[in-house]
Amino acid sequence: MQIVYRYGIYPSREQEQKMFHTLKLCRHLYNAALEQRETCYHQRGRSLSYTSQQNELPGMKKELPEYEEIQSQVLQDALRRLDDAFKRFFSGLAGYPHYKDRDHYTSFSYPQVDNVKNTFSRPGYIYLSKIGFIKMKVHREFPAKAISRVNVKYHGGKWYANLTTETPQAEPVEHATKAVGIDRGINHFAALSDGTFIDNPRYFRKMEKKLAKEQRKLSRKKKGSKNRGKAKAKVVKVHAKIANQRRDFLHKASAQIVKNYDIIVMEDLTIKNMIRNHKLAKSIQDAGWGEFGNYIEYKSLHQGKRHVLVDPKGTSQTCLCGAHVPKDLSTRVHECPVCGLVMDRDLVSAKLILERGLAVIA
Ligand SMILES: [Zn+2]
Repeated sequence: MQIVYRYGIYPSREQEQKMFHTLKLCRHLYNAALEQRETCYHQRGRSLSYTSQQNELPGMKKELPEYEEIQSQVLQDALRRLDDAFKRFFSGLAGYPHYKDRDHYTSFSYPQVDNVKNTFSRPGYIYLSKIGFIKMKVHREFPAKAISRVNVKYHGGKWYANLTTETPQAEPVEHATKAVGIDRGINHFAALSDGTFIDNPRYFRKMEKKLAKEQRKLSRKKKGSKNRGKAKAKVVKVHAKIANQRRDFLHKASAQIVKNYDIIVMEDLTIKNMIRNHKLAKSIQDAGWGEFGNYIEYKSLHQGKRHVLVDPKGTSQTCLCGAHVPKDLSTRVHECPVCGLVMDRDLVSAKLILERGLAVIA
């Protein structure tokens, strides 16, 4: 199982120049390798393999010495990305690989961090080969020894390190007794079958308003103007800030649930089955809920807890007594004409989800 830890990193000016330079050279390499594959295909009717392109790297460095400034594995990873893009294309999972411009090539990777001692030898820093020790803000702990890959990403005017670890699954907790059902709420971000509600932090709304404001400003700027560039950068920055705050909220909420319960039941919501509307706030929330499910899933695996997905059909329209109680989205309270139950609609759903989960296990 893969877990990614993400931290902000704060390079000096000189380091940042090297990082932008690395991005640029990796992108040029990626595009050149794509072009080479296409030329080869047109001339000889077959594509090049990753290996044959990788074998050309040492020769290329001799001709273009600036590539000596970049670690070989980082360059190999750029070629690997292209190879993966072709693999996804040939298996029908993605479109034909594109040439990348600066806005679409925003990260580089160290695919095999076997010198971990070196990488995390200084507390509060990460060591990137050929770039140096860079300040890293570690807001939650990570297993340094288990990190196998480092991805360096530039997003919203900031730099991040994504640290990947492959961890074995934990042994299941014995005597798993505490079970919970979680509903994606209408009234709340989430409702737990024990009666706990999780709400979106208030500052989300504030940030979303701010985002809408910056986007309106952007839409009024002339295409190609300098001010438009500035306005765009602002929008990207607010986006990144919202994403960070949300991720933080989702990590905390999911960690709490996995800590408190042994069996965690949720609806199996494949996004396409959900009612879609294209309002910005709604789409951010959808993304957040998907991420929330992923966090609960991997944290459960990691801690030997059980994560159960159940069929979502009818969970919002059924009473605990089994009666069919139809409600539209604006109805906030569940009132059953059969058994007389009056309860927050999200809580009823959470309880039903728990029942279904326990039935699956039994
Ligand atoms: Zn009822």
